[in-house]
Amino acid sequence: MSAPTFDIPFKSPAIPAVLTGQARLRFNCYKGISCFNACCKRADITLTPYDVVRLKQRFGLSSEEFLKQHTVPFQMDADGVPGLKMRTNEEGACLMLDPEQGCTVYPDRPIVCRYYPLALLNIREKDSSEARESYSLVREDHCKGHLEEREISIEDYRKEQACAEFDRRNRDWYRLILKKKSAGPGVGRPSEMSLQMFFMASYNIDMFRRFVLSDNFRRSYRLQDSFYEAIAQDDLTLLDFGLQFLRQVLFGERSVEEVESAWDKRLDERRQVWEMRVKAEVAQRQKEEDARYQGEL
Ligand code: SF4
Ligand code: SF4
Repeated sequence: MSAPTFDIPFKSPAIPAVLTGQARLRFNCYKGISCFNACCKRADITLTPYDVVRLKQRFGLSSEEFLKQHTVPFQMDADGVPGLKMRTNEEGACLMLDPEQGCTVYPDRPIVCRYYPLALLNIREKDSSEARESYSLVREDHCKGHLEEREISIEDYRKEQACAEFDRRNRDWYRLILKKKSAGPGVGRPSEMSLQMFFMASYNIDMFRRFVLSDNFRRSYRLQDSFYEAIAQDDLTLLDFGLQFLRQVLFGERSVEEVESAWDKRLDERRQVWEMRVKAEVAQRQKEEDARYQGEL
């Protein structure tokens, strides 16, 4: 199973035809089909931020623990924008797979698994700022679902697989990636700090929460107490804020109001700490020199 979910260069056997929601698909998948689990035994599952939230909540894990136990990072493009894949065993099988029962996280399975054998594409037309959602069909020899009689429209297949909530939650993140991609080399490679921020706000949501709740952040941005209370409790509110913050970090969209001169104040504080450290080191060295001099007398 290897389906791209957005228009970036993943390796994929997707058939290039671009399909709309009205297009019909000849496909069926059910427990008992001869290839049952074959797709999950060669899993190449790219995760979205909403996938991570669903799965970490299912396991009751912090995002750090979930990332450590169940994911592998990769680079989504030449600029090093970080992506995340589900961890597999050495043979390439998804760790969520039970050989008898199938997917053990089925109600919370990632969006790539829901769409398969389709891939969701976000394509921006030339001269348009809006991305259009369409689909392509993935045909892999091991998948016998294409030989079944059932015909279904892509819209109905999306309903059957409960894709809508995932699509709604993922949409702005796909668009952020698309915007980064279509900005081209003119805007340059994002700084290492922006890439780390992208990883944290997209996937390591509990670390991002600590960052936003820190005194430094509160001193730097004008946000209501009710905002901090909400993000302290709710992963999805935090995820939405993360996207807003990333648009500010990556594209300079000023939608999170900054405290005037907060940055200068922080630099000033750091300079003072640094000067104090230097003074303390000089005093210590002087003390050591004096002690040695006394000893030599
Ligand atoms: S998450 Fe479930 S459906 Fe997706 S590859 Fe793993 S076992 Fe298969
Ligand atoms: S029909 Fe395709 S999607 Fe369904 S179990 Fe078989 S390989 Fe997987």
